[in-house]
Formats: sequence, C-alpha cells, structure tokens
Amino acid sequence: MTPEVDWSSEAAREGIRRSLAQVRERIGTAARKAGRDPAAIRIQAVTKTFPREAVMAAMAEGLRILGENRVAEAEGKYRGLPGPWELHLIGHLQRNKARDAAAVFHWVQSIDKPETAQALQKACAAAGRTMEILLEVNTSGEEAKSGVRSPEELETLLDAVAPLEGLHVRGLMTVGPLTEEESRIRAAFRSLRLLFDGIGKRRALPGFDTLSMGMSGDYPIAVEEGATLVRIGTALFGGRHAP
Ligand SMILES: *Cc1c(COP(=O)(O)O)cnc(C)c1O
Repeated sequence: MTPEVDWSSEAAREGIRRSLAQVRERIGTAARKAGRDPAAIRIQAVTKTFPREAVMAAMAEGLRILGENRVAEAEGKYRGLPGPWELHLIGHLQRNKARDAAAVFHWVQSIDKPETAQALQKACAAAGRTMEILLEVNTSGEEAKSGVRSPEELETLLDAVAPLEGLHVRGLMTVGPLTEEESRIRAAFRSLRLLFDGIGKRRALPGFDTLSMGMSGDYPIAVEEGATLVRIGTALFGGRHAP
C-alpha cells in the first residue's frame, strides 16, 4: 500500500512538478531522436482513481488536458472545476452512458462501434453541443482490448461515423501491447501511425490531426513513432490503488 497522499499539499504539487519535468524531458529526447518538434506532442494527465484535489494540483501545474476512463467517476470529480480544461474519455463507452458522457467530456477517444457513435451523437444533439472523437484501434491483437481489429473494420467505422453531424473525427487512439518487448510495442504504434497517415491522405477530414498513443510505460516509443497526444497517469501521480 502506498501511503495516502495529501493532494492539496505543496509537497504533492512539487511531486507533480518534478514528474512533469521528467516526462517533458523524455518526450523532448524521443522527439529529437525522431526529428520531430517536441511542441507537437501534448500531454494528457490521466486522473482515474485519483481524487479531485489531484486534478486541481495537476491543473495548477498547467496540465489542462485530462483523461478519465469511467463516466460516473469523472462526473463528480470534475463538476464545477474552474477552466479552461478539456476532459477526454479514454475508457470504453457503454451506449446507455452516452448522455452522461456528453455532459462532462469534451472528447471521447474510445469509439469503436457505429452504434456507440450514433448514441453519442444523439446525446450531444440533445445537449446542444459537439464532441471531438477518436477511433480506437486494437493494434496488439490482445483479446481483452477494445478497438477495431482490422483496417477494413476501421474504414467501415469511418464511413459510418464521419458523416455524423456534431461529432468531429479528430484521429486515432490505441493502447499498446502489454509486453516488455520493445519491438512489439513499436510495431503496434507504427501500424497506427500508418493507418492515420493513410486516412489523412485518402479522406477529406478537416481537423484529423490527433494520434493518441503511449502511456507511462511506453510513451517515448510512441513519440518516436509519431504520437501527438500521450496519456500519462502513473508517471505523473504515482501508483494507483486497484480500482
Ligand atoms: C490508465 C490509462 C492510461 C494511463 O496509464 P499509465 O500507465 O498510468 O500512464 C492511459 N490510457 C488508457 C486508455 C488508460 O486506461
């Protein structure tokens, strides 16, 4: 068990500040290695399981793109927090949660079925708002992971989702394979990048600019392979208790 952290304390702020500097440094190194501009990579702070005070501490350090994987958890935690901030759903979206998701999230990164996108569109239309979305691709072949499983399935999903008014398809998202083997992780990220580039060339999708890949354990590889958004929890906040 990790000791309870007082997220309102200056020590907690200092901890996040130091972790963030380290993440930025590693992103910079990876970007330069790949001949990329480090400024092209944005950091998303993944706050799942951490309390509202941790979110506030992260925001105070300038982290304004946040991620949560459950709709219900995000609602209470983020309600009423002073902006600007942008919250992304990175976990699976159930159709019956679309309305709640539309109330609290600005982006949904986990669209992998036309039915979910349609439910989300209805919910957004009812709320009089729009939503940025990413299509999730399973690049690892792992059964437990969400996401479309083939380029054909991705094309079919795009055909269904791109015309939906009020949903803006901004790019692709993946969760890398659970392995220590760097070559497999790299191959997964590279395959997403190739799909992303292909779609960008073949389709006229305004604002299709976001490649969300890389977490605490593998974000430098993701940056080398072209990520524009990395999703970082543990490396900023420390270990999570089991949910
Ligand atoms: C939890 C989570 C993250 C962050 O994971 P860390 O390893 O703690 O950085 C990123 N993406 C998704 C989809 C997650 O569920």
